[in-house]
Amino acid sequence: MKQLFTNIKELLQVRENTVDKLSGTEMKELPTIKNAWLLIEDDKIADYGEMKSIPKINADKTIDAEGKIILPSWCDSHTHIVYAGNRELEFADRINGLSYEEIANRGGGILNSAKTLQETPEEEVYKQSAKRLEEVMKLGTGAVEIKSGYGLTEEGELKMLRVIKKLQQNYNIPIKATFLGAHAIPKEYKEKPDAYMDLVIEKILPKVAEENLAEYIDIFCEKGYFSVADTHKLLSAAKKFGLKPKIHVNQFNAIGGIQAGIEHNALSVDHLEVMRPEDIESLKDTTTMPVALPSCSLFLSIPYTPAREILEAGLPLALATDFNPGSTPSGNMNLVVSLACIKMKMTPEEAINAATINGAYAMELSETHGSITRGKQANFILTKEIPSYTFLPYAFGTNSIESVFINGKTV
Ligand SMILES: [Zn+2]
Repeated sequence: MKQLFTNIKELLQVRENTVDKLSGTEMKELPTIKNAWLLIEDDKIADYGEMKSIPKINADKTIDAEGKIILPSWCDSHTHIVYAGNRELEFADRINGLSYEEIANRGGGILNSAKTLQETPEEEVYKQSAKRLEEVMKLGTGAVEIKSGYGLTEEGELKMLRVIKKLQQNYNIPIKATFLGAHAIPKEYKEKPDAYMDLVIEKILPKVAEENLAEYIDIFCEKGYFSVADTHKLLSAAKKFGLKPKIHVNQFNAIGGIQAGIEHNALSVDHLEVMRPEDIESLKDTTTMPVALPSCSLFLSIPYTPAREILEAGLPLALATDFNPGSTPSGNMNLVVSLACIKMKMTPEEAINAATINGAYAMELSETHGSITRGKQANFILTKEIPSYTFLPYAFGTNSIESVFINGKTV
């Protein structure tokens, strides 16, 4: 089926040739076509151009997009969408003065989510997670990564990953699965954390690989969670099964997680709220994508990833939500793009690049997603009538989306 969009006020992120990622000053440029047309054929972008030179097209359906903008759908490369229950009580605890670490020490935090996950039947976890997935698709997300990490037992982790697999089968959106067994140390292993690492590496990881449940490996490399040595050990083991690293580093402390990730050719290093000059330096000339999660900073009132320093060092940067029940109960990429502009001083062009093509890179999807390019998947957002694309991050909290297309179909 051919669908033609005409009179598009502005078509954003038009890339004649596929780029895999954008770095440093390249991110300042957002190529667009004003007063444009866009043709999609079935699930692919077929052609586009300026209205003044539109050829004769026999489309099955023509949509007048006057006053509206079309841009590639968001590529959210870091989420924990699969979980059970919520943690709004801890939210109230925090308002009453407890820190994230204090809540974790009281048996809250990740361990609380793990307990709920373990007690919830797989079918129910699926139902709750599917609802969230549908919600983020309506908010413009057209490709997403989802992690395990609230199981923390063999059964729990496999349950989460099977839920992700079922979402992959039932939804028309690319979903990348990441095994995050090393998310927190379960209470029963508090005195013997090495034994938990052994369980993850020797028992759970081989099962994950055997059932082909994940493409990526993740670890929370942080004081009180997992050390740099643990990170090396896990990433080396995962490599034997072909799992590439996408890891949680430098959220509260800089302990060398970035360097460990780079050593193992991590696809991405995520969080980066605390960055030393040597951390920025070591990311230069690597294929590792730095990923910022500004809604986590907002929710926890912790520093934002120093985007300007990262970009001024010539590095790329991607933006993602970190959607999870503890530190970021929101999967809204529109808010992420706004926060990147408001709090991280990224320009609208940089933020849109970071949330589309660079997000796609952080999921190995830049060949098929993240830009308006002939032959790519027809995953895009049609906005309401808005004055300019800068209005998107500017009018934070406003829903400027009219409809979302994934593989050529409206969500
Ligand atoms: Zn996370």
